[in-house]
Order: sequence, then structure tokens, then C-alpha cells
Amino acid sequence: MNFESLGLHPLVLKAVTDAGYTEATAVQQQALPAAIAGRDLLVSSQTGSGKTAAFMLPALHKFASAPAAPAPAKTANQVAQSARSRGERTRFTPAMPKMLVLTPTRELALQVTTATDKYGIHIRRVKAVSILGGMPYPKQMQLLSRNPEILVATPGRLIDHMESGKIDFSQLEILVLDEADRMLDMGFVDDIELIISKTPESRQTMLFSATLDGMVGNMARRITKDPMMIQIAGSSTRHENIQQRVHFVDDLSHKNRLLDHLLRDSSIDQAVVFTATKRDADTIADRLNIAGFAAAALHGDMHQGARNRTLNSLRQGQLRVLVATDVAARGIDVPAITHVFNYDLPKFPEDYVHRIGRTGRAGRQGLAISLVNHAEGVHVKRIERFTKQIIPVDIIEGFEPKKKASASAPSSRRAGWRPGDGRTDTRSAKPATKPGQRTFVKPSAPRKDSAGFRGDRNQRGDTGRG
Ligand code: AMP
Repeated sequence: MNFESLGLHPLVLKAVTDAGYTEATAVQQQALPAAIAGRDLLVSSQTGSGKTAAFMLPALHKFASAPAAPAPAKTANQVAQSARSRGERTRFTPAMPKMLVLTPTRELALQVTTATDKYGIHIRRVKAVSILGGMPYPKQMQLLSRNPEILVATPGRLIDHMESGKIDFSQLEILVLDEADRMLDMGFVDDIELIISKTPESRQTMLFSATLDGMVGNMARRITKDPMMIQIAGSSTRHENIQQRVHFVDDLSHKNRLLDHLLRDSSIDQAVVFTATKRDADTIADRLNIAGFAAAALHGDMHQGARNRTLNSLRQGQLRVLVATDVAARGIDVPAITHVFNYDLPKFPEDYVHRIGRTGRAGRQGLAISLVNHAEGVHVKRIERFTKQIIPVDIIEGFEPKKKASASAPSSRRAGWRPGDGRTDTRSAKPATKPGQRTFVKPSAPRKDSAGFRGDRNQRGDTGRG
């Protein structure tokens, strides 16, 4: 399906053409006609599937098609300024957005705002701003005083502004919950309910989530009216364009040496290395810098300004390796990321899916490599059960684990892989007996030692407030 056939407003269509999109993605094919018709949507689709355009293009189409409101004689800012110049105390005029997008993290919110700017570039009268935790209040007040049509926000900070009368949702027409399952996991359920209670019943609601089961399904049913259900490819977790591998390691020193070796692969354009802790992210980034890699850390303890600078360096290609924790890395959309490394496995299989989704964006190829202690074989199994995919075990000569990997005899031998062509990796395209050769072996049955890892999302301690 191409975009012309959807009847999008010409200014939206022009932006889509500028972005180089020719065909709607699977989620867009189903979501766009229904959303343009004003229907509520419940969508389960994988990260990187083009879901932002699936909700933003219909919204921009609606705003561009509406007759322009008569311009006020003075902006809220000008009114306040002239009142101040007369020595009068002023009351902040609340922003009255037409659209609200709620996201679990700041990074995803910024990503959505950037995409909105791209898709709305030709519609002068539509402004989008992000309201995020960590951003200075005066800056946010300034953004709100422009009365933007579109707000993209994390729930915690948004509530602060609502409670102090800076935002009024009585004119809201469209509400989007992006990565709704994640927001609930992070403990935002009460905040979301409160925000929704301040919006008109007449709104259009679109909810995007990895899963529509359980708690998120209950909420979805409560907040939508006759929604269209869209489930892309049955499973939201397959990432078929991303090759996955596991390397077993004996100890930390083995893991560090192997990471260093793997990062020297010339087929890497940019890579993200995931760690379990903020401290490890800092330590590994420092170590990689000393070893000559252009690396930097990204985690929740960094100020928003520093996080933005790091992400910009990544987008501009100045950084080759980003070492990140889960919360910080969510929503990163940088097409040049060819490799994802799990230095530590994530706590939850869902997070594994989100992590590896940082590569293979928009139909490209990607490679995801997990460095796993022998005791963590069971965690790999849990991920495999969740994604319904076997992750081959890879061994590189010179880096073999001393302890026999929790794997059986070699089950498959692949010619290797290179981003872009999905096939050749020069270092592994030799016979298995030669130095540097990789051998793929099938993981064996799970082991009993499952310390530290839980598949139950309810046990997550992370509330990661905006
Ligand atoms: P999203 O899932 O919204 O984060 O989008 C993932 C990536 O897909 C982004 O880099 C988008 O620019 C890109 N994208 C979205 N829609 C299309 C499309 N129809 N054709 C090509 N790329 C797209």
C-alpha cells in the first residue's frame, strides 16, 4: 500500500515523500485508514515497525485539514508581558493541547517529538513539544506558553504541570499511549488514569503495546470505545531481520576480552552495549575509551542535557559504541546501529526484545550478541521461549570458554554475517578448524541455577519515573 492511496493531506504526504517512505509498513497499512477515520486503536506491534507514523500521520492529517482558527490579537506571552510592564500580577494561561502522546521514557518522548517535527514539517501552525522529567521547569513553562497543539510527555512531569494549572486537557482530541505495557511496568498506572480522567470522553484513543494481555488489556478496554485491534504478525517479538548469537564466558576477564575482540569487527558501523547497572555502563565506557573506541555511557543518573548530547553524538556518527542501561536506551532509533551486545542479560525477556530492536531498524539487518555466564543458560532458554526462536551459540577460536558451554554438539554452521547483506563475516568465513573460526552450537536443556533472573514482570523493582 502506498501513501497516496490513503487520502492524506498534501502537506503530510509531502513530508512522507521527503522522508523517503514509499510503502506503508505492516502496522501503518492497518492503522492508518482506521485512525484517519477517527477510530480508536489497540495495536500490538514490535519496536521499529513504524508505529510512530501510524498514529502521528493521521493526527497531522486531521490538524492540517481543520480550518485555521482565527489568530489571537496577542499571544499568551504578550498578554503576560504587557500585564507585567503595568506592574500587574499575571496568571499563566494554561496550554490547551489537541493531542497528547504519553511515553514511558524521556528518550522515547524525544524520539516521538523528532518524528513529529519531521512528519509535520510543512504544517506551520502545528507545534509539538516534549514535557519530560529532568528538564528545567522555566524551559518547560516557556514551551507550554506557546500553546502547542501536540504534547509528548512522560506521565510524572506532566502531572506536576497539570496540578499547577499549566495544562488544560478540555480541548484534547487525540490521546496516544505509546509502549503502554512498559508504562504500567514502570508503575505509572495511577498517573495515567488521572491524566485520562482530565480528558474529554469524545477523544480518539490509540494504544500501542508489545502485548495487549493482562493489566494493559484491562486498561485498554476501559479507555477505548469500539477499538480496532491490530496485531502484527501474531508475535510482537520475532525480529526476523536480526541475527542473534550467544557466547558463553568463564568470568569477567574472559567477557571483557571477548567484547573487546568483537567490537573490533570491521562490519560494525555503530553498536550499543547493554549493562545491568549504571556503574558498569560508566566503567565499561571508560575502559573502551582507553582501548581506543569512541565510546560513551548513557544511563538514568545522567542529566538530561548530557543524555541528549550523547544521543546526538551517536546520531551524528561521532560515537561508535554506546554503553547503556535499559531505561536510557529505550526508544533509540539510529539506523547505523548494526550491532547490539548484551554485556549482561536483561532481567526480563521483554527487555531483550527491546534491546535487540535497537539494531535492524526500518527493515535493515542487525546482529545481537549476548555474553553469557555458564550459570545463565536458563535465562537464555527463557528468552528463547518468549521469542520462540533458538539463539545459536557461537565460539571464536582463542576465546573458547574453558568450561564446556551449556550446549550440545554443533548443530549448524553459518557462513557468518555482515550488516547490509545478511551473509558474510570475513573473520568467520573459513573452515571450522582454522583459527578465528566460529562454531555454532545449539543450547542444551536449561540448567537449574537461575540466580538473579526472573521472568515474572511483577517482580520488577524498577519504577523509572520520568
Ligand atoms: P518507529 O517504529 O516509529 O520507531 O519507526 C522505526 C523506523 O522506521 C524510523 O526510523 C522511521 O523513520 C522508519 N519508518 C517508519 N515508517 C516507514 C516507512 N513507511 N518506510 C520506511 N521507513 C519507515
